[in-house]
Amino acid sequence: MTVATALLDALAFAARKHRDQRRKDAEASPYLNHPIAVAHVLAIEGAVTDPDVLTGAILHDTVEDTETTFAELEARFGPSVTALVRELTDDKSLPKTERKRLQVAHAAGASPAAKQIKLADKICNVRDITDTPPADWSVGRMVAYLDWAAEVARACRGANPRLEAAFDAAVTRARRVVREVPVSGA
Ligand code: NDP
Ligand code: ZN
Repeated sequence: MTVATALLDALAFAARKHRDQRRKDAEASPYLNHPIAVAHVLAIEGAVTDPDVLTGAILHDTVEDTETTFAELEARFGPSVTALVRELTDDKSLPKTERKRLQVAHAAGASPAAKQIKLADKICNVRDITDTPPADWSVGRMVAYLDWAAEVARACRGANPRLEAAFDAAVTRARRVVREVPVSGA
């Protein structure tokens, strides 16, 4: 398989798995836009060329957010991409606050490949909070999300300075824009 073929196969797989899902923004954008954006940030802003990292980015939310299993990924994409997705998958049997805490705790010990995908994921989510935020979030919730994303990003430092700079710029802009959101009823 060429790199292009592997990536197209991952895109086709993710498109089918996420087909009924939407993002949380007011327009309920197709979920697939998000993994595509994460892979795009890695390639264009992070100068990442490793096919496993780009494929892992396309697949990063399939197990966490759809009925996809690791065995299915292993059979279709092999052990290294599957190991990467495993590093990026929260244990959904745990309460949300515990999952958030564990993401911070585990990030520093993650592989360099997983750290880069985590950083790109947080860059995209922080940009989404800025430009197409979840429809029903208060400013306080957005700020809490930015604080948490910054903690995860700090734990991912050392893997890709370009992505670190992109995250810093994204979170700085987000904090400025979110502060300007009018308080409802004001
Ligand atoms: P969630 O984990 O519920 O939602 C954020 C996740 O949703 C992102 O990581 C992203 O995950 C996905 N997502 C989908 N659409 C969007 C979008 N348009 N913009 C951004 N992300 C999107 O958020 P939390 O529960 O973590 O809430 C954030 C913080 O707020 C927490 O730290 C929590 O403590 C706090 N909180 C505050 C409340 C309040 O009322 N003040 C209530 C509840 C929580 P993915 O990449 O996987 O798609
Ligand atoms: Zn994601």
